[in-house]
Amino acid sequence: MENNNWVCPACGQTNPPESTACSRCECPSAATEHEIEQYRKIAHNDATSAAENTDGVKQYFTASNQKLVLMCVCTFSLYEIYWFYKNWTAIKQHYAGSKIMPAARSLFSPIWAYSCFKEIKRSVASIETYNDLPIGNLAIAFFMLNLCSGLPDPFSLLSVLTFWPVMIVNNAALAVNARNNRDFKHNDEITRNNKIVIAIGAFFWLFVIVGMFVNKNHHGL
Ligand SMILES: [Zn+2]
Repeated sequence: MENNNWVCPACGQTNPPESTACSRCECPSAATEHEIEQYRKIAHNDATSAAENTDGVKQYFTASNQKLVLMCVCTFSLYEIYWFYKNWTAIKQHYAGSKIMPAARSLFSPIWAYSCFKEIKRSVASIETYNDLPIGNLAIAFFMLNLCSGLPDPFSLLSVLTFWPVMIVNNAALAVNARNNRDFKHNDEITRNNKIVIAIGAFFWLFVIVGMFVNKNHHGL
C-alpha cells in the first residue's frame, strides 16, 4: 500500500497526504528554509510552555453561530470585543514571550481585526474548506460596519451587523478547535449570566427603538 504521509520539517509530526500544513505546528508542507526555521522556533516554544498551556494545542475562543449573533446584538457588540480579547489571549499564549496586549488589541478591534483573522486563517490552512477565507475583505467589512455607528439614525443601526464578519471567522476557528481537540465542546449553551446580559440588552434596545420613533415625531411637528 502506498503511504504518502509527510513528516513536518519543523516539528517532526507525521501528517496525512491531503493536508497542506502541519496539524501540530501549522508549518506549510511547501515551506521555505526560512519559514521552516520560524516554525521550528514556534514548535520549540510550544514544548517549553506546554506545562502551563494544558496540552499545548491551540484552542480559540468560539461560540455557536446562534449564540454569537444573539450575544453580539444584545450587548451592542460588546461581546465581539470579548471574542477578540479571548482570542488575542489564546494567540499570545501560543507565542511564548509575546508582547501582544490582548486588552488594547480588542478595544481597537476595527484596526487589529485583520491580524487576528490572519492568525486564525493560518491555523485553518490545513482544512481545505477554509483555504479561500477572504480575511482582507472581512476585516474591511468589520471596519466599515463599525464606522456606521457614526451615521445618523436609523442608518447607525447598520453597525449592529459587525457580528457578521466575526461570525465567518468564528466558523473557521470552530473548525480548528474541532481538529485540535477531539473532546471539543461547542459553546452553544446560554448560561445564567448570558441570560442576564440578554435581558439588560433587550431593555436598552427598547429604549433605542422607542427613542428613534419619538425623535421622528418631533421632526414631524
Ligand atoms: Zn509541524
